[in-house]
Amino acid sequence: MRSLQSEIERRGRRIFELVDKHPESLFSKTGFYQRLMTISMRDEQLKLQLFRFVDVLPSLRTSGEVVEHLQEYFAEARDSRKLSEFLGAGIRLARIVPWLSGPILRWNVSEMARQFIAGRNSNDVLQILRKRRTEKIGFTVDLLGEAVVSETEADQYAARYLDLLEGLARETRTWTDPLGKNSELFPVVNVSVKISALFSQISPEDPADAIAHLSPKLRPLLRRARELGAFINFDMESYAHKNTTLELFKTIFTEEEFKDWPHAGIVTQAYLRDSEADLRDLIEWGHARGTRFAVRLVKGAYWDYETSKSRQNGWDCPVYFQKPESDVNFENLTELLFENESVVTAAFGSHNVRSIAHAQALADELGLDPSCFEFQLLYGMAGPIKRALVEMGYRVREYCPVGELLPGMSYLVRRLLENTSNEGFLRAKFAENVSAKELLGDPRELIKPDGPAPPASSIPVAAQDQRRKNDTSLDSVPGDIYRNSPLVNFVYKDSQDKMRSALREVRKRFGEKYPLVIGGEKVWTDQLTPSVNPSAPDEIVGYGSEAGIPEAERAVKAARAAFAKWSRTPFEERARLLERAADILERRRYELSAVEVFEAGKPWKEADADIREAIDFCRFYAQQMRRLGRPKLTQQVPGEDSYHHYWPRGVAFVIAPWNFPIAILCGMASAGVVTGNTVIMKPSEQSIVCSAMLMQVFEEAGVPPGVLNFLSGHGSVIGAHLVDHKDVDLIAFTGSREVGLKIWESAGITRPGQRELKRVICEMGGKNAIIVDSDADLGEAIDYSIYSAFGYQGQKCSALSRLILLEENYDRVMERLIPAAASLRIGNPEEPGIMVGPVIDEAAYRRILDYIEVGKSEATLAYQATDLPQGYFIPPTIFTDVKPNMRIAREEIFGPVLSVLKVRDLDEAIDVANGTDYALTGGFLSRSPANIERVKAQLEAGNVYINRSCTGAIVGRHPFGGFKMSGSGTKAGGEDYLLNFLVPRVVTENTSRHGLAPEQTPEYRDEFLWPKPQ
Ligand SMILES: Cc1cc2nc3c(=O)[nH]c(=O)nc-3n(C[C@H](O)[C@H](O)[C@H](O)COP(=O)(O)OP(=O)(O)OC[C@H]3O[C@@H](n4cnc5c(N)ncnc54)[C@H](O)[C@@H]3O)c2cc1C
Repeated sequence: MRSLQSEIERRGRRIFELVDKHPESLFSKTGFYQRLMTISMRDEQLKLQLFRFVDVLPSLRTSGEVVEHLQEYFAEARDSRKLSEFLGAGIRLARIVPWLSGPILRWNVSEMARQFIAGRNSNDVLQILRKRRTEKIGFTVDLLGEAVVSETEADQYAARYLDLLEGLARETRTWTDPLGKNSELFPVVNVSVKISALFSQISPEDPADAIAHLSPKLRPLLRRARELGAFINFDMESYAHKNTTLELFKTIFTEEEFKDWPHAGIVTQAYLRDSEADLRDLIEWGHARGTRFAVRLVKGAYWDYETSKSRQNGWDCPVYFQKPESDVNFENLTELLFENESVVTAAFGSHNVRSIAHAQALADELGLDPSCFEFQLLYGMAGPIKRALVEMGYRVREYCPVGELLPGMSYLVRRLLENTSNEGFLRAKFAENVSAKELLGDPRELIKPDGPAPPASSIPVAAQDQRRKNDTSLDSVPGDIYRNSPLVNFVYKDSQDKMRSALREVRKRFGEKYPLVIGGEKVWTDQLTPSVNPSAPDEIVGYGSEAGIPEAERAVKAARAAFAKWSRTPFEERARLLERAADILERRRYELSAVEVFEAGKPWKEADADIREAIDFCRFYAQQMRRLGRPKLTQQVPGEDSYHHYWPRGVAFVIAPWNFPIAILCGMASAGVVTGNTVIMKPSEQSIVCSAMLMQVFEEAGVPPGVLNFLSGHGSVIGAHLVDHKDVDLIAFTGSREVGLKIWESAGITRPGQRELKRVICEMGGKNAIIVDSDADLGEAIDYSIYSAFGYQGQKCSALSRLILLEENYDRVMERLIPAAASLRIGNPEEPGIMVGPVIDEAAYRRILDYIEVGKSEATLAYQATDLPQGYFIPPTIFTDVKPNMRIAREEIFGPVLSVLKVRDLDEAIDVANGTDYALTGGFLSRSPANIERVKAQLEAGNVYINRSCTGAIVGRHPFGGFKMSGSGTKAGGEDYLLNFLVPRVVTENTSRHGLAPEQTPEYRDEFLWPKPQ
């Protein structure tokens, strides 16, 4: 008997023979697309620009815009020979006759898209399907345009799917299966659906909610498909949707109505590490269900997206890093499918002749008839392979996307990437003519034991610590080895379970009392401040002891007393304290997130991001202190040592808000502590329990008595007292402009007995704007705007409150923005997947409602949500016809209220954006490189965000803080933040004795400590 490998080679060679009879025209050297491919494969940088240009092109309306973009995208590459082969003439022509080259380019791109998109509608596609029928190729049709932004769009998609199904069934009534054997397994009409096109609010942490919304939309489609004898396949999208898609599939096809229906299929992506476990689970489910179902095995279309997304978030990457690993897994899963042929009908979605030949050879070896599985290939790709497979007697089905170019852009770009991928089979075979031997080789032999490593951000912290300890170079920049803590990935059921369990546990502790902590002692006072759950104001999350002036005095004394020793404690010891605190925060992560959900009304993900930020502050500031802690030589001069170093300032008073109840308090307090100051923390009255937890964390981490004191109480009493106190040297404040300015003013007065000029770190509010350019990707623009404005109920100082739209774009954005706002999930954030919860308390509730009334009198109420739960829930509200001078466009509202301003052009947009008292965050959504550069240079904001939301700063990556009336220009989580807590000092020694001087002075020396630590 031949070995499997030699059989694979034999079959592979046969396919190649047949393929070579009809070479692949897509990879020839003529035509727009072909030239695009050729250049892209030669130059990665250029490829990026080219694909970006292709992406924006369909949304450009005039020839002038096309030409401008062309010039902007290729400004740098304009003279390069490579580009001029392709576009140089186009650019020159564009300058002379823009009206000509704009349409030509657009035509070229739509022609290119036509190679991958089978038609605009079902009529178009039918022509293609008829042609394929003559070639004995079946079809599955997919509607382009996944990831809808509103339920209106989702409902439209559901209706279009139904129409499509009806149309296909009608037109193909007389068609039969080309193989005529086992045809009952392979209905002629086959439709592929993507769940993200059917529900706009899919949240990975809440598959149950998604299933509850998707099922009613799918049932009519499935019912009709069954009546018409059609087949429905669930496509698989990005990893965030994987578990939901699997659960949905199993749930709906276990329902009585569909339990015995065999014509349902789902996709398994072999590039996923957990795909085998998922497939085994599906097979087990299939056996229990007792009815056949189908699996389309693919490698997966989102490799680049998954790798960059997990790197950004510090997540374990779900995909294999080495291409042959995906290939091997594909083969292993092929075997698993064949072994379970009794319950699963297999479809192999691949253009790779090795993967295909392997399936053929294995089927033979297992004695399976070729008619009981099929090969599926994409429309417009690998045509000769399809023909070869048909000729060899296999069942072939083509995946035909249908729709307009604009919603189809992400599909098109995925195809372009796939065709030009260095790793891809098609490029190797058709563009690079790699030998058949190589192409058919066993992928197992290509896996490198020391292949690509996991992304740096997923290196565990312990390993980083080790690296840091081994790193003896004092010059190394800590930022190089600092890594953010990964966000919890709620896509995993395990994370969801942990969060649910933490919520249950924390609920049991409701009503507990928390003491002040002064000089290391727990201090109880007669007055207790209740902290309520804003989602259910009759629930008291906990009580905090309320400090008065005597306790404030005691805290200053304790802090002052502790300063003498702490300020002379080696920085390494102080840094380690922070790192221990970070580890404890990490350990208590779910519990602390749960407290935030109850006390601050934070949705799960927002709460987790807050704890992550606190962890990051501790680790980042520890690193930064190591950088700043050693005295550094100012200049290398013979005979003189001059060292620049820092001392702490004294007693720091930290006043924090409730909206990032652990992160901001932790950030300011940890900066104070690690720099050798002693700290009095005054949390917000609305988030006492969260802050008491933070105090516990530092106590467990071993903070010495008096170094960190916890003083909850009224700002107007203890806050004002301590701001004016002669023994307070530094005030770190984050909060409202009103209080911030008072502190700034008060701190400027020198009191009798005061030793230092008070330093004030003052971070206040914003009136943040996002400008949407005329060429912006509208789907993304809506997503980012909605999230920035309504995420955490608009209660972030970075939140979007002014959306600035250009006249020419206005209607198109509003058309999608309002339904998107109307689709948001509003509710108690104890439930997963909530986007809009309650505002913090009654006072905020009333104040925001007052602003809404102001808005109604000044502008037009364009949208307001209804049906709100009990509790302090404010309806997400959108005003239009807002003018820059109106109160709702100038004053910070701190709630889910969005003002939309219409402007003539980008000049006016920038003027309007800059025309407020604040300068905190600002955003720009655009695909014009020149406009992007301009906004980068001109937008007045401490944090400028391009093509993303304007909230969600990450420690170390986006140092955060504003200027003008947003703050004193400090950057939390930035390299220079700690300097605000320090006074610089220089010590100079003349080291020459009668001309005798050391040649070289070390660049760093030990700290100036006396007595020197042993
Ligand atoms: C009919 C059909 C339907 C499809 N449906 C879906 C679907 O619903 N969902 C989906 O996600 N995909 C789907 N795909 C798959 C996807 O679109 C690609 O076509 C497919 O992954 C390409 O694989 P290949 O075997 O043809 O080519 P090959 O060139 O052999 O493989 C390319 C694939 O290898 C993987 N890869 C690339 N680089 C690496 C690396 N460094 N490490 C590990 N793996 C790597 C990627 O998955 C890449 O797409 C479908 C494909 C077809 C043909």
